[in-house]
Formats: sequence, C-alpha cells, structure tokens
Amino acid sequence: MTDRPDNVLVAYFSMEIGLDSSMPTYAGGLGVLAGDTIRSASDLEIPMVAVTLAHRRGYFHQRLDEQGWQREEPVAWPINDFCKPVSQRVIVELEDRTVHVGAWQIRVRGESGGEVPVYLLDTDLSENQPWDRTLTDLLYGGDDYYRLCQEVVLGLGGCRMLRALGYSHIRRFHMNEGHAALLVLALLEEKLASRAQEASIPADLIDAVREQCVFTTHTPVPAGHDQFPPDLAHRVLGERRCAWLKACGHDQSLNMTELALHGSRFVNGVAMKHGEVSHNLFPGYPIHSITNGVHAVTWAAPSFQALYDRYLRDWRRDQLSLRYAISIPSEGIWKAHQEAKRMLVEHVNHETNAGFDRDVLTLGFARRAAAYKRGTLIFHDIERLVAIAHQVGPLQIVFGGKAHPRDQDGKNLIHRIHELRDALRGKLRVAYLTNYDMTLAKLLCAGVDVWLNTPLPPMEASGTSGMKAAVNGVPSLSVLDGWWIEGHVEDVTGWSIGDRIESCLEPMEGMDACHATALYDKLEQKVLPCFYKERERFIEIMRQAIALNGGFFNTQRMMAQYLHNAYRLVGDLFAEGSSKS
Ligand SMILES: *Cc1c(COP(=O)(O)O)cnc(C)c1O
Repeated sequence: MTDRPDNVLVAYFSMEIGLDSSMPTYAGGLGVLAGDTIRSASDLEIPMVAVTLAHRRGYFHQRLDEQGWQREEPVAWPINDFCKPVSQRVIVELEDRTVHVGAWQIRVRGESGGEVPVYLLDTDLSENQPWDRTLTDLLYGGDDYYRLCQEVVLGLGGCRMLRALGYSHIRRFHMNEGHAALLVLALLEEKLASRAQEASIPADLIDAVREQCVFTTHTPVPAGHDQFPPDLAHRVLGERRCAWLKACGHDQSLNMTELALHGSRFVNGVAMKHGEVSHNLFPGYPIHSITNGVHAVTWAAPSFQALYDRYLRDWRRDQLSLRYAISIPSEGIWKAHQEAKRMLVEHVNHETNAGFDRDVLTLGFARRAAAYKRGTLIFHDIERLVAIAHQVGPLQIVFGGKAHPRDQDGKNLIHRIHELRDALRGKLRVAYLTNYDMTLAKLLCAGVDVWLNTPLPPMEASGTSGMKAAVNGVPSLSVLDGWWIEGHVEDVTGWSIGDRIESCLEPMEGMDACHATALYDKLEQKVLPCFYKERERFIEIMRQAIALNGGFFNTQRMMAQYLHNAYRLVGDLFAEGSSKS
C-alpha cells in the first residue's frame, strides 16, 4: 500500500533521523526517537513518508585526548551504500539564489512487511554554486545563516520534493521539533498559489494549513528553540515571505517554535510533565502530552531478543506484549543480563583498559554531554562515594556522550569526568567510552546493572535511554523528571533520586547537594544491598522494569497515541485502504 505515493497520509519531517548506527544522520535523543518512530510506523503499516537532510559529512566523530578534551572530525560515509538516488529535482530560493535540491531514498521495513520511505534531501549537485553544495553536509554545524538555509531546504524543499515524488494526498504533516517549521510557509504558499493571490493572506488559508499540521516540541532548554534575528530572516527569506510570516504573527525575530505552534492543529510535549512545562512556556496554546518510547526490537540486546522470542512469541510485532514478561523465569532474565553485561565489560576493558569486573555492580551514564544533565553529580562528594563502595559493596561507573560542537560547558563536563576518573584511580573504576552512538547505546543500556540519570528538573523533557535500559531489564536510578515521573515505582521498577515535590528547591547549588545526598543514600541503603545481598529481589525489579516500563514506554504505544490523538486518521486509514487498494 505504501509503495503508492498517493496512498500515503502522513509526512514526518525531522532535521535528524537515526536510521542506522553507520549513518551519522542523527546527533542524539531527538534523532533516535525519529528513527524509532519510523520503525514503529512501518511495523504498524501506517502510510507514512519521512523527510530529513542527507548530512553527508554527518554529525561529527568524537575524539578525546588523554585529558578528555573533545575534538570533532567530519564523518565520511558512503551514502550510496545505504540509499538510492531519486531522479526528481526541486528548487528553493535563498536570498537571490536558486538552489537545486535532490534526494536519496531509503526504505525502512517493518515486522509485517510494511515500509516507510525516508527521503534525505541533498544540495550537493553540480547545478549549485560551491557553497550551496555544502548546505546538507553538517548536522548542527555552521552558523545561524547556514542553519536557516538548511531549514529552508528541509521545510520548503522537503514539501516540494514530496509533491514532485507524487505524494499528493498527505493529510497530516508532522513537525518533529521546530527545525521543520518552514513547512508551514511551504503549505501556505501552495494554497496561495492555487488562489493566485499575492501580498495578503486570508485567515481561512492559515486555518486550512493548521488543519494539516502536527507539532511535537522536545525541550524546555532555550538553546533547543531556533530563533533568527529579523535581518537574517529578511535576507534569506525575502520581503514577500517575511510579510506572510508577519501575517502569521511574526514581527520580531523568526522563532521556529512559535511558527510551528501557530501553524499546528495539535501540539504535544514528549512526557506528561513536559506537556505542562511547555504550556507554561507558551501560554495561549493548548499543549498535549504524548510520552516518548523506544523501538523495543531495536534496543533489546541479542540475549534478550532470544529470551523474548522464547517466552513472548509475538513481541516483535506486538511490543505491548512485553507486559507478559511477568511470566519469564528469573534464571532466564539473569542469564540474558549476564550475557549483555559480559559484552559491555569486554568492550570497556578493550577500549579503555579500565579493568572492569563482571561481578561488580555497574552504573551507566551516557547521553549528550549537556550541563543540565549533570554528569558529575555522582562525584559531588567523592569521599562519601568511595566510602560507600568500600563499606557496602564495590561499584564501577561507565560514561559516554558527545558535547555539541558549540557547547563549551558540555566539553568542560567531559574533561571534568576524565579528571575525576584519574583522581579516583585505585579507589573506584571509572571509564569514559568515546564516540557515543546507537551501537554503543545498545551495548551500554543493556550491559550495565543500573541506569543512572541526574537531570536538573524540569529540563529533561522525556529522556529515552532509561527506556532502552528497561527493555533490557535494567532498572533506573533517576531524578524524578521527564518520563521517570511516569515510569518510577519505588523498589518495583527502580529508585528515585529526591522527591517529586522538590523538597530542596533553589538555590541551584542547594539542589545539587540535595540530589547528591539522595543519590548516595539510595546507593547505600537500597541499590547496593539489594544487588549483592538480595539477588532474587533485584531480578524481580528487573522483571518489572521490562513488564511495566518496557511494555508501555515503547514507540508502538506512542504511535498508537499519535494516530488516535494527533493525526486522528484512524477512520480514514480504513476508508483509504478499502477504496484505493
Ligand atoms: C537514546 C540516545 C540518546 C538519548 O539519551 P537520553 O538519556 O534520553 O538523553 C542520546 N544519544 C544516543 C546515541 C542514543 O542512542
């Protein structure tokens, strides 16, 4: 059904998509979520198409020197090994230039034969001037001008490319984060063209565009919301388009989040709490919540895949059936976990010579190195940490994560973890794995014993790596923010750090100290004793992590919610299916 473009009803736009670990077309959580979304859409045979940029030089390859200073290298990757070029070409106008846009196609196959085609837009064409040929090279590289040009290619070029490819019946355009917001402008222009009207926009046209658009916002962190100064917007988009944007309520800088909010019929945050936080951030817009998930088959380690194949026969097609993990015997879970842990420990020792021990409780912390995630919180009081490991039971900690190329605080954080690692030598084993990507995430989230997360509330919109851990029976020890507010049941799916109602708000240093103390208390009184002295109870927690959290925080449940609440196409899906195929 999906191989006929005019049967496709949903177009999903994302600046980054994690399709394959060897395709550096994603930076972190946002792109991995986009990939998992597409994988589940194809499992569920949702008639969807996706659009992104080619990122021919990728999101960077991370090198770390001995002191933990990050150096970024462009990635050379053979796009033709993964994707097929399409012959269609469209153009976008940038300043006074005409830029030609081509595309590559990759088809993502689902468990039941469904497919979602993904188009990667590419300006590296001989028709273009040299600088324009680099426009689809770097994910989150370059300056504001480069970024705005990329967003024109994604929003306007993407919409035109879909039309050129024959996608003429799309009912919903889903903007995954504000980067794709110029899609609103593209749809407006289509409607204007059909009415042959020029300078002004009738309000009913904006309503008609809004009817088609869905917007997911992903972060309460200001740097996550693209904004462009008025003169830059004017320069790139030109007089006429800026006048149209003005009609959409934009007279100051071009704020992509505002544009997407204004142009969408349905807006959502990515966890219950994030919906509330976003509503306070953008009062005047009703903001719903659809909590993120992970694609369980992608994130289950080989040993857990084999275990589920044995006990939960339909789990690949029906990820919600992970709920039935309550029937999996303890020996099976423990054995699968030991296998995942062995793979991780071998990798850590091979890469870092850290001398990790398979019998020692292993904590994992890996995600984008951003200040609000507070990767060094566990070292707040080194003496207490070492004393706990000495008195209650040994522990070792493995880290991973890239800092955004322009995020000096994030780079300092990685360096600081390296300093602490060296200071702790002989007392506590700490390792930092380089170049965190999907392959490494699979190894880490499955191979540690407990997944640690320490964001500064309310900055963690959702977080998904704890969900990847849960799919592998790994409980979380986390601050109550993002998804963990929903996924946490104390001593059942893991442990909290601090309370839901913050008992120790402000000042910020106070919050760090308070959370660090809470973290040490939990390690000392609950996590370590449970792991070393009550193994059967620890395995029961692993089982509940799979059943309660793996069974719910997956992208199959998430896509069902998008279908029912955001796209509202369930009726049309059956109608289209019967009339056209
Ligand atoms: C899942 C994932 C993330 C997101 O981690 P969070 O803990 O949700 O921030 C980042 N990077 C990679 C490579 C991932 O696989």
